[in-house]
Amino acid sequence: PWPRPDGPATTTSTEPDEPVATTGAGPGGGGAAWPYDVVVVGSVNMDLVVRVDRRPRPGETVLGSDLATYPGGKGANQAVAAARLGGRVSMLGRVGDDAYGGLLREALERDEVDLRHLRPTAAPTGVAMISVGPEGDNSIIVSPGANARLSEQDVAESGDLLRSAPVVSLQLETPLPTVLAAARAARRVVFNLSPPAPVPDELLARCDPLVVNEHEAAMVLGVAARPHVQAEALLALGPRSVVITLGADGALVADASGITAIPSPRVEVVDTTGAGDAFTGALAWRLARGDSVAAAAAFAVRVGAATVRAAGAQSSFPTLEEVEGP
Ligand code: ADP
Repeated sequence: PWPRPDGPATTTSTEPDEPVATTGAGPGGGGAAWPYDVVVVGSVNMDLVVRVDRRPRPGETVLGSDLATYPGGKGANQAVAAARLGGRVSMLGRVGDDAYGGLLREALERDEVDLRHLRPTAAPTGVAMISVGPEGDNSIIVSPGANARLSEQDVAESGDLLRSAPVVSLQLETPLPTVLAAARAARRVVFNLSPPAPVPDELLARCDPLVVNEHEAAMVLGVAARPHVQAEALLALGPRSVVITLGADGALVADASGITAIPSPRVEVVDTTGAGDAFTGALAWRLARGDSVAAAAAFAVRVGAATVRAAGAQSSFPTLEEVEGP
């Protein structure tokens, strides 16, 4: 339904790894040797969304639209994005023992995300308070709640979960030591360094790829620069590959072989919430299927573009048919 980006050619390279995923095993088609395509370790939040004409200044009150509640959290969003495309996904995370926790569990179940390692927790479920401006831009306050209790011990107690998928997808809405423990246990790490914060070199060195948007790249590097310069500077920090997402301009992929620009389809923006998460979940799934980073990113920009055309985060993520449709 929306135009495809012009190039680059999406060549597929299958990197040998054990066990080798069966080629041609389509989404949901089974046949792959791994129990899961992607394990997501991360946050599960309820998004509380109000549209506003403008944001309040400190001390000021503005009126907004009716409240809308959407299942969210960067971790759960990545999990749902990959699962909705047909990926087999397991989620390691925590939700509270409250109403939101139950609703979020149901939402993940609807997309057939494996929840054996989604732990109930005596704490409020994480929430994100989101205001959406007239341009579809969003401002977000996150209250981590149960997500802050996801521990290194949870990673250890998950047994061989993280070894049972070719790709583990991570973000930073759960404690850094937990993320680092998960990265150490993973075969391959896709890490969305969001929300941006200082992370140890060891974590960066394990990323393939490190995924950031332009704003996050500037925070990590401590200086704003053109995306190509950012990509090279981020690569110099140690990851095997880097992906910088550029909103309507798509993405840049950087690795040892150079920098590849990935244009995005042009779409009408309704709500950008979750675009980066949809992009990263889609990217992780395609990497698990054997795509190169550039080929996976060329697919992921189409998923990101589809996501901004509708309201909410998970509610706007496309199916494979919607991405590849006529
Ligand atoms: P984040 O959501 O983390 O801020 P971006 O804004 O870079 O990240 O969006 C992630 C991806 O979503 C982009 O790489 C692109 O594929 C897609 N996307 C975001 N905004 C738009 C847009 N206005 N038009 C088309 N695609 C978009």
